[in-house]
Amino acid sequence: MKPIPFNKPFIIGRELSLIADAVAQGHLSGDGAYTRLCHRWFEEKLGCRKALLTHSCTGALEMAAILCDIQPGDEVILPSYTFVSTANAFVLRGAVPVFVDIRPDTLNIDESLIEAAITAKTKAIVPVHYAGVPCEMQRIMAIAAQHDLLVVEDAAQALLSTYQGQALGSIGHFGCLSFHETKNIISGEGGALLINDARFAERAEIIREKGTNRSQFFRGEVDKYTWVDIGSSYLPSELVSAFLYAQLEHADEIVAKRRSLCTAYATRLAGLQQAGHFRMAAFDEDSNGHLFYILLDSLDTRSRLIAYLKKQDIHPVFHYVPLHSSPAGRRYGREGSAMHVTNDLSERLLRLPLFYEMSEDEIARVCIAIGEFFAG
Ligand SMILES: *Cc1c(COP(=O)(O)O)cnc(C)c1O
Repeated sequence: MKPIPFNKPFIIGRELSLIADAVAQGHLSGDGAYTRLCHRWFEEKLGCRKALLTHSCTGALEMAAILCDIQPGDEVILPSYTFVSTANAFVLRGAVPVFVDIRPDTLNIDESLIEAAITAKTKAIVPVHYAGVPCEMQRIMAIAAQHDLLVVEDAAQALLSTYQGQALGSIGHFGCLSFHETKNIISGEGGALLINDARFAERAEIIREKGTNRSQFFRGEVDKYTWVDIGSSYLPSELVSAFLYAQLEHADEIVAKRRSLCTAYATRLAGLQQAGHFRMAAFDEDSNGHLFYILLDSLDTRSRLIAYLKKQDIHPVFHYVPLHSSPAGRRYGREGSAMHVTNDLSERLLRLPLFYEMSEDEIARVCIAIGEFFAG
């Protein structure tokens, strides 16, 4: 039988011909015509003030940390149940990540625990929209306003999800997107920083261009191109932007397909959930179908189910090792709340295969195999 991988990168439209066009235009470095098209697409579609493509979401988070003016010893509040870059970007600036537990329903940061984790050193809150399901942004933005904190949305998984009608990534002061090949819309590696507060727009351009005023120089706003601030090289090549733009042309279609795959999983697995074998990902009307998980009853069941599916060439994955208990998390961070939900759920969560070209038949095969496992 054909293997069912966890993820499979895909091409949907003009990716290769737009790359050929970028080559023909003779502009391969960053910030050419395709990068500008992508910027405009994000600004119009998501309603953010300014979008800047980066080489990764990791890069976008690092830029956000610089823009938050993080100084050594400052604290940043974030969930422990997330990818390492959410914390690392701030640790690179000398910050202490303060980990807060997640909600058992969405696996997003538990907003009711944030205020107790705030100290005089807190600079920012970094909510992560896990699985593309929105955090409680209204509450989080209110807490931030009250304590004069900045909000950086890690929207790596959340492109085209909404919260109360607003695009995720466009609500906090900054939003960070990923186009890594495991995400919904891909360019291999890739990301974007969304800047929603005009105060930060000019400095963001400078940080992204190695700390120079190159962008202003090319617009004719300054007459010399020089080193003016700290920075690094965060922009992608036009080859990557051309690939990304071709995917953006089909963005709604990609999201619709992923949502329909999630619905197919939910329909086919409803009986097993009802029988008490696991709990499925909460289906959210406003989210983008980024991933589909089940929560099993124990680590042992998860390990046995993975082994059973692997024998049938079906390849689910699990994540994350909670950051508060990871070697680097212990060295650089601290716990800002008890971690009961994070510790419990991270051992039991299993992500099922999900990719754009997946067929209903493949969904059926995964669900039948899971049913056989529980039938004994
Ligand atoms: C994928 C991901 C990242 C990192 O994205 P890259 O583009 O690979 O750097 C960061 N945070 C979360 C929550 C992610 O899922």
